[in-house]
Amino acid sequence: APPPGADYLEGLNPEQRRAVETTEGPVLVLAGAGTGKTRVLTTRLAHILATGRARPWELLAVTFTNKAAREMRERITHLIGPSAEGLRWLGTFHSIAAQILRRHAELVGLKSSFTILDTDDQERLIKQLLEAENIDTKRWTPRSLAGLIDHWKNRGWTPEKLPTTEDFANGRGQKLYAAYQARLVTLNACDFGDLLLHNLTILSQNADVAEEYRRRFRYILVDEYQDTNVAQYLWLRLLTSSTGNVCCVGDDDQSIYGWRGAEVDNILRFERDFPGAKVIRLERNYRSTKHILGAASGLIAANRDRLGKTLWTEDDSGDKVKVRGVWDGEAEARLIADEIETARRSGLRYKDMSVLVRASFQMRAFEERLVMLAIPYAVIGGPRFFERAEIRDAHAYLRLIQSEDDDLAFERIVNTPKRGVGDTSVQKILQIARAQGVSAMTAVRALIGSDELQARTRTALSNFVRDLDRWRAQAQQVRHWELAETVLEESGYVDMQRADRATGQTRLDNLKELVQSMQAFDSLTAYLEHVSLVLDLDRGAGEDAVQIMTLHGAKGLEFPLVFLPGWEEGVFPSQRSIDEKGEKGLEEERRLAYVGVTRAKREARISFAANRQVYGRWTSQLPSRFVDELPLDHVEAQSDTGYYGAQPGLKEAKSRWDDAPTFGAGYSSPGWKRGQAFAASQSPRPAYARNAVIEGEGRLIATADPAAGSSWSRGDRVFHQKFGYGAVRAVEGNKLLVAFDKAGEKKVIDTFVERV
Ligand code: ATP
Ligand code: MG
Repeated sequence: APPPGADYLEGLNPEQRRAVETTEGPVLVLAGAGTGKTRVLTTRLAHILATGRARPWELLAVTFTNKAAREMRERITHLIGPSAEGLRWLGTFHSIAAQILRRHAELVGLKSSFTILDTDDQERLIKQLLEAENIDTKRWTPRSLAGLIDHWKNRGWTPEKLPTTEDFANGRGQKLYAAYQARLVTLNACDFGDLLLHNLTILSQNADVAEEYRRRFRYILVDEYQDTNVAQYLWLRLLTSSTGNVCCVGDDDQSIYGWRGAEVDNILRFERDFPGAKVIRLERNYRSTKHILGAASGLIAANRDRLGKTLWTEDDSGDKVKVRGVWDGEAEARLIADEIETARRSGLRYKDMSVLVRASFQMRAFEERLVMLAIPYAVIGGPRFFERAEIRDAHAYLRLIQSEDDDLAFERIVNTPKRGVGDTSVQKILQIARAQGVSAMTAVRALIGSDELQARTRTALSNFVRDLDRWRAQAQQVRHWELAETVLEESGYVDMQRADRATGQTRLDNLKELVQSMQAFDSLTAYLEHVSLVLDLDRGAGEDAVQIMTLHGAKGLEFPLVFLPGWEEGVFPSQRSIDEKGEKGLEEERRLAYVGVTRAKREARISFAANRQVYGRWTSQLPSRFVDELPLDHVEAQSDTGYYGAQPGLKEAKSRWDDAPTFGAGYSSPGWKRGQAFAASQSPRPAYARNAVIEGEGRLIATADPAAGSSWSRGDRVFHQKFGYGAVRAVEGNKLLVAFDKAGEKKVIDTFVERV
């Protein structure tokens, strides 16, 4: 029975409550988006603690992102107060595996001070190995082997267990993999995939260790279970006894990590592996309005491979899902930024809005537009702060201070800033180190006293060693962020950036940000560990800022207003999934679309562009097939944007556009075939629309004939609503490059300027 005053149970529906209160034995909660799975998991944790079934450190709770872990911790604290402290084992698969690995590192040949390599280090290391084997790294790239190794690790395959069907560079896959693993051990390092793989080795080969953990973790809880891969699954199995109190929650329709080895089958396997498991289904969605849910359900219905489930909501307020077509990526960014401003004026906070993209390259346009309008935004996950060169350099210093074995860190900074240790000397040092089987720093210490290197280089190196030793001694006395500050100053790194007029200031700002962010951690080790584990960096998340992220990164989150741009063939679904044989890739993309739409609480707005610059090239775009699949009852074509739209129900939409030029491809609308291009306009102005090139079926071309009808020429003076007065510099079809007197050079569509 719940303890008196257990008001955390209030408001749960009967099924949710059952999922919370069925604490003993295996439980699987299988339910659609927004039905409260995560809420159930959090409440269950609180319930176990509040009823004294276990102490905080006896609970293992796995979330998909660090952000989710943080939120869960906060919510539990909110529910039951300070007894939630001490939840040591609440985190992502990787962060928990890293903790376990630190405690038993010696069982896989590492020291507990091991470093976790990032992908850049990893690729450099692999490149060395490939070169040592005389493998053509153009044909067999380090990146592809890195990807393959990751894939193998996700399946739980050590080099010895690698199936013979797996290979790289004509029969050398296994050898290279083994060499890579051996090299990591000498570097006292591991990569991301190793965290779990080493755990599997430790737990399966040391019965006593495994038993210790099985006893410790009295209750195990897993969120987003549909996205566990084989290695994660095996790991959970090793930590759970057959009668274990394990509760997994998931939704097969939201499985979006198949490309990373996640297996929906884990859900099906659950009932087999845990006989007598209770399966609980939740059907009421508490997040979204009926139109959002209707649109999402209609979309996902096109997938054949589903377990199937019911989903309903009581919320029948709210607008239909909006679908809009625009001229190009810039226009899309402009439209969305304007709508963000409008929504803000009507009372929504910025952080209530999010822009969810399929691929990170789409972000730039939004970032630029938001910066221009001074709208605060945070990029979650995306182009990572921690991947910037200056941040990596700073980390390399700290890593080398922490562990002398870290040759990759050594290589990165031994001559950054330049201190007279040339490339040849560095290579020589590394060679000697390898030949003697020692770390580069050990080799350096020996070389300083010999005459293998030039006198000048030796002096430089001995200064470097002296500095490092001093910093390492200081590390014991000062706080780790103070150490970071000292190191950046004393190494000359800050001066080097100061001297760089172009990007120096930005980099210095980033370094400041870095030093500041270190303060949230107890120790240097804890901080560096965090860095290697951060999957979902959320800079600016605390502030009121528009949230930009990839669809993958948005899993589990919710926002009142969600923008879903770039719904075009080749962008979303991705070209790769289209090119692939079979429907598997496409079905995964469709689940991603389902995840996207179901993030919205009040409103979802989808858009697509007729033209887009992809990797520097302009291409004509077709609206995504997912747009076609949205049920008409729940979507609304909208084109008060002035740019365009070929919408479901085109005829009606057309009549509303009295003075807007329109372009696009018809779909789902009477009289139009999918992909059939059209250009229409009721406006007397745009000559280009009449001259638009329209090609046959199956191919979208809705561009203007550049030669036709343009009445503009270089030097014409114009006025633009937003940018003011300016002069035409160049004419490209219907687009003008205008040098505005105040706003600088901009490309504008000619109908948006007036001749003055
Ligand atoms: P997803 O599949 O997207 O991860 P989920 O199933 O984990 O979704 P939650 O995020 O737990 O769903 O819940 C969705 C929203 O519904 C949250 O805002 C949550 O607080 C709310 N909610 C869940 N259960 C209830 C309830 N019984 N009463 C009121 N609100 C609820
Ligand atoms: Mg959830």
